[in-house]
Parts: sequence; structure tokens; C-alpha cells
Amino acid sequence: MALIVQKYGGTSVGSIERIHRVADRVEQAVKEGNRVVVVLSAMSGETDRLLKLAHEVAALPDERELDMLLSTGERVTISLLAMELRGRGVDARSFTGRQVGIITDSAHTKARITRVAAERILDALERGVVPVVAGFQGINEHSDVTTLGRGGSDLTAVALAGALKADRCVIFTDVDGVYTTDPNIVPTARRIDKIAYEEMLEMASLGAKVLQSRSVEFAAKYNVPLEVNSSFKEGKGTLVKREDADMEAVAVSGITGDRNQAKITLVGVPDKPGIAARLLGPVAKANILVDMIIQNVSHESLTDFSFTIPRVDVNKAMPIIQDTAKDIGAKSVSVTLTGCHPLTARAARSTADGSEVDSAAASEEHCRRAPRVRFDLRARRRAAARRRALRAAAAGARHLGRVHQDLDRRAAQRRLARRRGRGHHVGPDRPDRVPQGGG
Ligand code: ASP
Ligand code: MG
Repeated sequence: MALIVQKYGGTSVGSIERIHRVADRVEQAVKEGNRVVVVLSAMSGETDRLLKLAHEVAALPDERELDMLLSTGERVTISLLAMELRGRGVDARSFTGRQVGIITDSAHTKARITRVAAERILDALERGVVPVVAGFQGINEHSDVTTLGRGGSDLTAVALAGALKADRCVIFTDVDGVYTTDPNIVPTARRIDKIAYEEMLEMASLGAKVLQSRSVEFAAKYNVPLEVNSSFKEGKGTLVKREDADMEAVAVSGITGDRNQAKITLVGVPDKPGIAARLLGPVAKANILVDMIIQNVSHESLTDFSFTIPRVDVNKAMPIIQDTAKDIGAKSVSVTLTGCHPLTARAARSTADGSEVDSAAASEEHCRRAPRVRFDLRARRRAAARRRALRAAAAGARHLGRVHQDLDRRAAQRRLARRRGRGHHVGPDRPDRVPQGGG
């Protein structure tokens, strides 16, 4: 008798009809004599819908309230599935993150699990009950609801599997495994039978949406045997496990792309040691994950400094970045919403053909095609317009051109007037005006 954690993603519980099919699978696993713990996502699109509502109320919604709101999506699916299972005579009970003791830190919207107090689940299993657990949520030490970052139900499942020492953690999703690249872009992509945690982590953090990267990290740390499988068709999926001999022989396992990143560029940064730490420290403190960091060759002791953050964090990050940017004497800050699709597709295609790709990154030229927002550091009075632009940018709007052009033009006029009036000038030709920040 095995202990299995089954996690079903949003599309797998996207309608009542699909919830019936999930119940079929759960019932079957129980009938085969297994002890089953079910973890569910919200219905597909639901978390996005809730997020959109929040952003209609506030440009920068309070994160504690946001978590309270976002955690409701999973309550809907767990209670519906538990009802359905009970109707079939399977003794099932739904539980929120709090009820099953998913304890996290207080980093709202991307909380880290600090402890799993799984007594309640163990107790349910003991009594032959199938626990149906809300993914993606926990509570902090003040009993406030937290969420684990987008795709966080995977993490709930893996964490529970780890805590319960489950024999298997199966992630049921709308694809039948992990592919060498996005099969929607490259039809010749192949399914991978087994992949090492490290490689899976690499792929997940670079944009393969099949598993949340933090869940893979967690699985690797606690050696949780993971399986990615389709909830729609029978058959083999992908095993994610410790590396073995035949995995080592593979040169390139897969190619991924991520369209949900924003690239922030600081133009004209004094090229001094410690600048990166000064700039990124406050960003990290605000719990914003910085992914890639690129610093250009400097010209006349000024350089451009770019880094990427999740698109959804642009609103939160900009005021922080602009403050530091001003402190360290950067000339301007720009945000590019990366649209890395063409490049990824090209790289991916060559892998699918069997040729090797050593490394690939989005080029400047390529990102220029993506919408661009520019901000002048000293234009404080355009706060409202800036907020509007940021909100649109965060929502991924493609028609930002005019707002920004206007912003840019007016900013430029004002900047010019100010410079003329006061002889105020910031730039490489007046290096004495650049504040001497070291860090
Ligand atoms: N419902 C959450 C999301 O959409 C969590 C999950 O699906 O894993 O991100
Ligand atoms: Mg997911």
C-alpha cells in the first residue's frame, strides 16, 4: 500500500466535468489500495481573474489583502472535489493550508514554507479519509494567510510529500510530461522520460511552466520522487529524480523561454565596485526575485546595468529602483517587458533538430521589439501618469507607445527647461555632478 500525493493543476479542475474526471482518478487510486492525499489548484484562470480584480481596486494592492483574496480560488476546487468524492462513497475531506499546517514566513505573495505540521493529514489518513488540500496557501506566524508564488500548488504537493515521506508525488497537468522545449512553439519537441532535479530546476526557472521552480528545488533538497503526468490521457509521464548514469550523457536537455519577465536598465551608472549590491540589495529586501544581471563594458567610467525581475513585480520595484538609481547617480531607468519568444523559438528549433546550443540569451535588438517604458528620474510630478503606465506595463499592454511618448516628450521639455534655468546638468561631461556613492 503506497502513500501517494496527487496534485491537479488549474486546467485539470477547470470545470465540473473535469472535477468528475479527477474524482475518477482519485477513486481508482484508493480502490487500488493506496493512501491518497490530493492537492488542488484553483480553476484555470481564476487566480488571474482575482488578480485583475485587485488591480482594478488598487495599482499596488496591499499584499496581505492580495493573499487573502488569491487563497479563495483553491477553496472552491477542494470543497467541490470533496463533495463529489463523498457523493461516491469515498470518505474525503477538504482542508485549507492553515488546517494542514503549512507554516510560512511573511513574504506575502511569495512566502517560503518554514514548517509543515502534518498531524491533521496523518490523522485523516489514519482514519482512511482522503485529504483534499488547497494548494498555493499557508499561514504565517500571525495566522495571516500567505500564498507561495504563482504555480505554488506544486510546492504544496512536494512539501506535503516530503513531510509525509510519501512514496510518490504525481503532478497531474494538461501536458503528459516535460518536453525538450515548448511543444506549442516547436512541434518536434520530445517528451523526456526522466530528468535530474538540477536540470528540471534549470528549465523551470528559465520558463518551462510545467513545474514551479521552487517546488523542484524543494523536491531535490528532500529527495521527493516527482512525476509529471497528464490528467487527460493515460500513459507514461516524466520522472524527476536524482541524476543517474544515462542522464549524464545528454548535452542539452531542453530549451525554455519566459515571457513574463521585465528587464530594468539603468543607463549611465558610475562604474564602481559595490554598485550592484547597492542597487539590488533593496530589491531583494522587498522580496523581488532578480534573475539575470547584465553589466555592460563601461565608457568614460559610466556603464549600463540591466537585470530582470518578474513582470508582476514591476509596480513594486520601480519606486525602489528609482530611489537607488538617483542615489547612485544613474541617468535614467528604463523598463522592457521581455518578449523573448522569437529567440527562444529559434534556439529551441535547433535543439529539436539535434544540433547543440551552448547558451542563449535575449539580445538587446530582440528586446527592442518589446514594448518599452522610459522614466525620467527627476520627473516626480508625473506620478499619476507613471502609475498608469506601470499598471498597463505590468498587465502586459502592447499599446503603451503613446502614453510613453507623451511622458518622454514632456519630461524632455521640462528637463531642458530646468537645465537651462539652473545650469543643472547630469551626465558624463559633468562628472562632478555624479553623487559619489560607493557601497
Ligand atoms: N492558483 C495558483 C496560480 O494560478 C496556484 C497554482 O495554480 O499552482 O498560480
Ligand atoms: Mg502550475
